[in-house]
Amino acid sequence: MSATGKHTAEPIAANEQQARAVAEAARETQWAHHSFVRELYNGKLRLDLVHPYPLEDPEEDAKAQPFLQRLAHVLESIDTDQIEREHKIPQRVIEQFKEIGAFGIKIPQQYGGLGLSLRSYVKAMGMVNSVDASLTTLLAAHQSIGVPQPLLHFGTEEQKQKYLPRLARGAVSAFALTEPDAGSDPSNIRSHAELTDEGDAYVLNGEKLWITNGSIAELLVVMAMTGPQRITAFIVETDWPGVEVAQRCQFMGLNGAEIAHFRFTNVRVPKENLLWKEGAGLKLALVTLNTGRLGLPMIAAFAAKRTLSYTRVWANRRVQWGRVIGKHDLIAQIIGNMAASTFALESVAELTAILAQKENVDIRLEAAIAKLYNTEMAGHIIDDAVQVYGGRGYETRASIHARGENSPPLERMYRDARILRIFEGTSEIMHLFIAREVVDMHLSVAGDLINQKLSLLEKIKPLLTAGAYYSLWYPKLWLGWGYWPRYSEFGRLAPQMRYLSRTTRRLARALFHAIVIFGARLEKRQSVLARLIDIGAELYAMTASCVRAQAMLHAQPDNDEPVEIAVLFCRQSRRRVERLFKTIFNNDDTQNYKLARDVLAGKHTWLEQDLPHLVEEKDAGRSIANGVID
Ligand SMILES: Cc1cc2nc3c(=O)[nH]c(=O)nc-3n(C[C@H](O)[C@H](O)[C@H](O)COP(=O)(O)OP(=O)(O)OC[C@H]3O[C@@H](n4cnc5c(N)ncnc54)[C@H](O)[C@@H]3O)c2cc1C
Repeated sequence: MSATGKHTAEPIAANEQQARAVAEAARETQWAHHSFVRELYNGKLRLDLVHPYPLEDPEEDAKAQPFLQRLAHVLESIDTDQIEREHKIPQRVIEQFKEIGAFGIKIPQQYGGLGLSLRSYVKAMGMVNSVDASLTTLLAAHQSIGVPQPLLHFGTEEQKQKYLPRLARGAVSAFALTEPDAGSDPSNIRSHAELTDEGDAYVLNGEKLWITNGSIAELLVVMAMTGPQRITAFIVETDWPGVEVAQRCQFMGLNGAEIAHFRFTNVRVPKENLLWKEGAGLKLALVTLNTGRLGLPMIAAFAAKRTLSYTRVWANRRVQWGRVIGKHDLIAQIIGNMAASTFALESVAELTAILAQKENVDIRLEAAIAKLYNTEMAGHIIDDAVQVYGGRGYETRASIHARGENSPPLERMYRDARILRIFEGTSEIMHLFIAREVVDMHLSVAGDLINQKLSLLEKIKPLLTAGAYYSLWYPKLWLGWGYWPRYSEFGRLAPQMRYLSRTTRRLARALFHAIVIFGARLEKRQSVLARLIDIGAELYAMTASCVRAQAMLHAQPDNDEPVEIAVLFCRQSRRRVERLFKTIFNNDDTQNYKLARDVLAGKHTWLEQDLPHLVEEKDAGRSIANGVID
């Protein structure tokens, strides 16, 4: 290796086994603390972890309230149409955020931050998102995954002293993991950093793609290879020689977001800017994402809240066929679903933040399931709102304004919200991540039993161990009591709590059956796993809604509105759960997979016949008419 760290050989993309090995090596394998979601798949509804639900935290609220009021004041003065039009967040707004401490909400006061709790932070991000999603990317990418988060977790005291006060004052930061060939699969990272001959610095080369805040960031946390399958994290200052913003990327939405493609050419990174330790960079990135994604459930919930508020106004005002559209049954059904789901989304987001603040709870799975559920559900809610608004839901706000009408920016919200299901772990990866952990819980007992490579003789020992465990565990899943009078203290919510208790055991049974039926092949049956995860997500959302509604009733005994909404949400959720159970084993997965393979092999290109060649494809010398896109 040269002193400039120039790479000579072109790296080759990792194969499936290597990719897994990299991910597995970085996986947190220990479960030292409780996990509500993990226990669901073990057949246990751990109500003790989530109930009673603390509606407020007076000490924290007293600290957070003045900030949240200042934040609301700033947000209320922002012209979001201007951001959309000019593709830029005005510097004045960034300065106002700096003045109120919005860049250091969670950073402890000793380092110059506001020192507020995670619960206050996610609420702030929700409020911001209800105004403009580009503003959310600015503040959340900086604080959820940007430099402060891994620095607080893994930095040395010296690094914290050096950078945290700067970050809290508003030095914008970003998290740089993704590359052109490394999206969900980080084993393909090609950026690399070599130690200089003197050993006092690394030389960083490579590129990073779609780095949120990148084009205005002062500081980055960059993951790069420091050896074969050794990913290391560094704090990189963007004004160092060799750091270049190659492009500010443009997207379907988030017009004001500063999302960049970076190029690093022989960037000298002092050794003291290595974060944590060599080779621990992927673990650092995954831990950062595990906690970083805690903001997204509330961001999604507030998008739903805003959408509900717009929809309520419009469905009350718009008259068609002699009635306001909100009175037509099909539209009323949408609004009812929207309201019930909005309550659930906020409950999920809040409960997850509450759990994350408990010292004895590991929220890896809660954060993932909340991100998955809330972002998917918010997507449906906004889509429904566009439908209720009809043509005005599809038209840009600028166009509506141009003819003198006023209408909310639903079309923009629809575009902005789409990314929530993609970044910080796609919905598919969230399913697989949760499935990996909950299947592993059973495999740690019965693993060798389903290993099809082992002979019968080799299976005897695990059979004895697992047999002893499961002979006690399995019958309990059938015998537990989930009927009256259990949970009577929940009043009108008691039937829902009983359903949750019964269905948690049913879920664990279904997972166990899937493990037994598919054995090692279960890993490839992603759709089966996804249904099991979706059932768990519904159970989590129902639990969150019930315990929160119960707490709200306790606080205000003469107001049973939250209970009414929670009951309705549970009824809707139960129907989804029953549909999912029905299709775990009875589905078209095999046929559909085969068809997909045939399509990919070019067998059905006749389906694509009669497509005129597009100018841009002709220009690029491409053709899709013959099934080739290249
Ligand atoms: C607006 C925006 C902002 C972003 N901000 C950042 C940032 O700040 N920092 C950063 O590092 N990155 C960022 N990203 C990158 C983002 O996290 C990735 O886009 C995301 O991780 C997915 O990677 P990919 O786009 O390469 O998709 P791919 O990984 O190529 O996946 C394509 C599709 O295949 C699916 N898929 C992949 N693997 C599997 C599998 N094993 N099984 C089943 N399905 C699978 C995916 O779910 C997806 O649907 C950003 C992206 C965007 C668009």
